Amino acid sequence: MTENTMLFVCPKCGEPLAPDGTRAICKGGHSYDRSREGYYNLLLGSRGGTHGDNREMVLARRAFLSGGYYEPLAKRVSEATLSVTPTGGAVLDAGSGEGYYTDAVERALFERDGKTCVLAFDISKDAVREVARKNKRISLAVAGSYHMPISDGRIDTVLNTFSPLAITEVGRVLRTEGAFVMAIPGEEHLYDLKCRVYDTPYKNTVSDTAIDGFSLSASEHIKYKFTLDSREKVKNLFMMTPYAYRTPREMKERVLTLDGLECTADFYLLTYRKLRNVNK
Ligand SMILES: [Zn+2]
Repeated sequence: MTENTMLFVCPKCGEPLAPDGTRAICKGGHSYDRSREGYYNLLLGSRGGTHGDNREMVLARRAFLSGGYYEPLAKRVSEATLSVTPTGGAVLDAGSGEGYYTDAVERALFERDGKTCVLAFDISKDAVREVARKNKRISLAVAGSYHMPISDGRIDTVLNTFSPLAITEVGRVLRTEGAFVMAIPGEEHLYDLKCRVYDTPYKNTVSDTAIDGFSLSASEHIKYKFTLDSREKVKNLFMMTPYAYRTPREMKERVLTLDGLECTADFYLLTYRKLRNVNK
């Protein structure tokens, strides 16, 4: 996307941001420096602390994902996004993490038409840096899902892959009949890993997929097995899951000493359309 079509807005006053040298400014005079990597920090009240995934988690996720184990999902996320996004539209990845899916989607759209904008944000600066490293065409900001730095009704497709869901904000930034593409874990996602860690593992609960103000237009169940063939790979997978931080040390050891593991990937890919008249 070109410099003068920036779609991020000022998080303080909501006015559009325009690039100005090495920063972006709004009409209200607020300004935000562009980082060396090319993103803007639009997180309010940030005092430089760490939000979201830390560097260790980002690196574990990068190492794991580079093995291609979730490629079938990335492919389907790209295809689903392509099918609902008009040429020249705007796609927002809300809570992009280190950008594995964002990058796949952007590349597919770029190949299709070369003029559909892809924007992404995440609350973790380390994650956003990683997206910047992967793909220079993605417009990037550090921001939170509950205060998206985007104007009302500006986005054609919002993407959410395993990120906290701030559905009111998703509805606000989407145009009427815009699409919402969401990937969520299925019942048996990584159940094999949990069996190795916990004495009484539980399966995921997949709650009702209905969302107020949206209609579900497509639902796909993606489930397959993959094999991790080294201790390092098992560790990388474990470190990118929430279990890594919830599990007592001695239980962690059970999985960190495994030399391999056969795992189940289980996802639902849901596509919604924003209904008319959802704005009060
Ligand atoms: Zn402003």
